[in-house]
Amino acid sequence: MRIARVASRAQLGLAAPPVQVEVHLGGGLPTFSIVGLPAAAVRESKDRVRAALAIGKFEWPAGRITVNLSPADLPKEGCRYDLPIALGIVVASGQLEVSDARLESCEFYGELGLAGELKPVRGVLLAAAHAARAGRHVVVPKGNLAEARLASPTGARSAATLLEVCERLAARNDHVDNVDEVAAAPGTLAPLPATALDLADVRGQAAPKRALLVAAAGAHSILMVGPPGTGKSMLAQRLPGLLPPLESDDALDVATIASVSLRGFEPRDFGRRPFRAPHHSASASAVIGGGPQARPGEVSLAHRGVLFLDELPEFNRAVLESLREPLESGVVAISRARLQVEYPARFQLVAAMNPCPCGFLGDASGRCRCAPPVVARYRSRISGPLLDRIDLRVEVPALQSEELLGEGGADVTAMSSVAAAERVNGARHRQLQRAGKLNSDLTSNEIQRHCRLDRNCRRLLAQARERLNLSARAMHRALRVARTVADLDESGAANATGPAIGPAHLAEALQLRRAID
Ligand SMILES: [Zn+2]
Repeated sequence: MRIARVASRAQLGLAAPPVQVEVHLGGGLPTFSIVGLPAAAVRESKDRVRAALAIGKFEWPAGRITVNLSPADLPKEGCRYDLPIALGIVVASGQLEVSDARLESCEFYGELGLAGELKPVRGVLLAAAHAARAGRHVVVPKGNLAEARLASPTGARSAATLLEVCERLAARNDHVDNVDEVAAAPGTLAPLPATALDLADVRGQAAPKRALLVAAAGAHSILMVGPPGTGKSMLAQRLPGLLPPLESDDALDVATIASVSLRGFEPRDFGRRPFRAPHHSASASAVIGGGPQARPGEVSLAHRGVLFLDELPEFNRAVLESLREPLESGVVAISRARLQVEYPARFQLVAAMNPCPCGFLGDASGRCRCAPPVVARYRSRISGPLLDRIDLRVEVPALQSEELLGEGGADVTAMSSVAAAERVNGARHRQLQRAGKLNSDLTSNEIQRHCRLDRNCRRLLAQARERLNLSARAMHRALRVARTVADLDESGAANATGPAIGPAHLAEALQLRRAID
């Protein structure tokens, strides 16, 4: 009788609690049981492990094999434990000589194919980060190596097959790296350019571009209203390119969330700000997160990036309502029968909608036949509380023919993404220096402190309040945006708290919220 213990980890949201895979060989009739996994996963894992051992020319031990995945009450997915289970059987049956210390210094992850090959599994980045913190190496399938290296640059090892894992463990020295491995892994954590899409590629639309610049500078959410085909999506796709590169901690968070998602993580996306654009038919669990494994939804996949909701009124009402929590707090909590997990969801919301159901309200052709009550009903699908959280609202009108032909278009219209990003960077720097946060996050107390108005501005705001019937929330939004507009203005005299808000800044801010009132 012998027991082998192999280390691995489960995945629970963005936590990775340790799992001990214990393999016990006993006498008696030949049986193979796995405890601590859901029934369906056990059956599949057994078949794969048995096949992989046979292919690897290992002997299947006679007698009773019991595999215990502890702690038993932790929810687990089956595939990633194939490698630790198979390895445990090989070690317990004495077919692989390896010291306990050597075995304990590593964690193992991998699904076994029927030919003994190791297939990539989800969530390796997260597991590798935790293993590195615990001072352990990780051994992962080749397809997961680049991902594991991001979190554990020196402690990640990979293998193509079960046999290769065993050969390396049996080798006396720790010379497990080969040249291929090092070459396949990304060398640095240098963030990539966010996107190849350039603002200069969008014809005309000076006002919406200016609004996009303000949105980028202050991390303000933005709603674009206009008929189909005016470039709303093109503009939204260019927002990530205006934002500063991700900090390396944020880049790792973004990659980790992708790594535990259904789609998985692509190493080539590392360091890019995410851009997510779910279809309006998407379910609440797809957008917010959920399902049996409590996977992250679009709001979390868009963490530190952009969530683009095109045709906003067409989204399910429940989906739109559930956006309020992450917009407010930057996290989402998902509860399932056996688990409760939290994912970060600090995204910048970009929404777009038509002005009416047919899309051509106000068009010069007069083709819109939508009756006013129909238009009102269409717009009322977006609730007040959600609209309240959108700082900027801008019209994206149909292009004039000279704009389409590329005539004219000075200043902002012709601005490249690189030039715009530079201005955004400067404005963000001023905000962080002054308040330690971006303007969209200013609380009402902080607004009082950082958005001081002179007498002219106060008069302008009072007039606007009366004329536009602004709520207290709407006033705060206008002040936050005015702060950002001033931060973008490099011509004004700057004092210790950054450029003062002038009447022109405030007037622009009030203009930037008028598209649908
Ligand atoms: Zn219409």
